[in-house]
Amino acid sequence: MTVTYDCVVVGGGPAGATAAYHLAKQGHSVLILEKNKLPRYKPCGGGVCPQIAQWFDYGFEPVISQKVTQVRYTYNLEDEVIAELSEPIWMVRRDEFDHYMVQQAQKQGAILQEETKATGIEFKDGHWHISTPDTPVVGRYLVAADGAKGPMARWLGFKQRKTAMAGAIETEPRLPVHDGHIVHFEFGLLPKGYVWNFPKADGYSLGSGVFALAKRKSRDLVQPLTDYSKQFGVDIDQEAQHGHPILLWDGDQTLHTHQAVLAGEAACVVDPFTAEGIRPSILSGLKASEAIHSALAGNEQALADYTQTMNQEWGSEMRWAARLAKAFYLAPKLGYRVGVKNPRGTQIMGEVFQGKLRYSDVVNRGLRRLSAGMLSA
Ligand SMILES: Cc1cc2nc3c(=O)[nH]c(=O)nc-3n(C[C@H](O)[C@H](O)[C@H](O)COP(=O)(O)OP(=O)(O)OC[C@H]3O[C@@H](n4cnc5c(N)ncnc54)[C@H](O)[C@@H]3O)c2cc1C
Repeated sequence: MTVTYDCVVVGGGPAGATAAYHLAKQGHSVLILEKNKLPRYKPCGGGVCPQIAQWFDYGFEPVISQKVTQVRYTYNLEDEVIAELSEPIWMVRRDEFDHYMVQQAQKQGAILQEETKATGIEFKDGHWHISTPDTPVVGRYLVAADGAKGPMARWLGFKQRKTAMAGAIETEPRLPVHDGHIVHFEFGLLPKGYVWNFPKADGYSLGSGVFALAKRKSRDLVQPLTDYSKQFGVDIDQEAQHGHPILLWDGDQTLHTHQAVLAGEAACVVDPFTAEGIRPSILSGLKASEAIHSALAGNEQALADYTQTMNQEWGSEMRWAARLAKAFYLAPKLGYRVGVKNPRGTQIMGEVFQGKLRYSDVVNRGLRRLSAGMLSA
């Protein structure tokens, strides 16, 4: 006999695991459908804002690989700036981190069906029927948390939405780590993006990405990463390289439809300035769970409220992030001089990433500094 779940969550990344955790904790029956076997690899720097801890009643210590306390910036491999972070930022390996989050949801009663790909959806008799290579699964509500490459948004009819596609490649050499408490950013080698080195306890995540809205081929990302990696003793030709799209927040958007919501990168939540996606994916998973809990209790407005909440709480901030990205990447050398090289500027950006400051509180001042710099250049 087919089980009908209160909610089926497609995707076992941070967004899906969060939605499943909170729904299961409220006593709802939840199925997580994940196409891979967990733990699964996800191309990602794995930099996580510790503020996410406030949204859970479990700790993340078992999956924090490294805590970084300093940021090192360069421009064209020169002009180094080292800044102290007021609070450490976590570095995680996404296979471990995501699996751990799914395991916490399972402890609350969520069912994980892994190695099972959603192959289609149909709304019938008041329920979502999700086809898989095995038996279809059925849920009253549906959370599409299938990431930047997933098909769910399209299947749910979100065809006309604006998507701002960015891209990145990443490699994760397992090497002895020196200076594991420093995270590295390079701004000059790659227009409209940056190259990074995020240390882990047992290696690095090295990557390059274009995060401002720009058309770029993936091969353009390789040379800057090759050049950058050499200073850490890494020959990326010897390492597996993984390309991945990134869906940036690009203005207010509808994130719900009939008994279904988009969450995480399927909802294009990524910060267009920093490319931070984990924290907003978790935030949207949390807000999606609250909306579905309320809808299951009979609130017909709940899913529309989810759209509104995400646009208000995250989208309003992302408008400022997009403005900052546009100004910074228009003249990155100037941005580096007046923003990154200004100790207060790096401190402020650290606090924005840590969720302690809002873009809306600081961007106007930053833009004024950039304009003043342009006038005096
Ligand atoms: C190279 C790179 C570096 C990044 N670095 C950072 C960083 O340092 N910090 C940060 O905050 N963000 C970073 N991001 C962004 C971050 O990785 C994503 O925003 C985040 O993973 C989104 O989480 P999610 O849960 O929405 O989706 P995902 O983590 O992508 O999970 C989606 C899940 O859905 C599953 N799935 C897909 N299709 C189906 C299907 N049909 N059926 C069943 N399951 C399916 C996938 O297997 C996957 O497990 C980076 C992104 C890239 C590409």
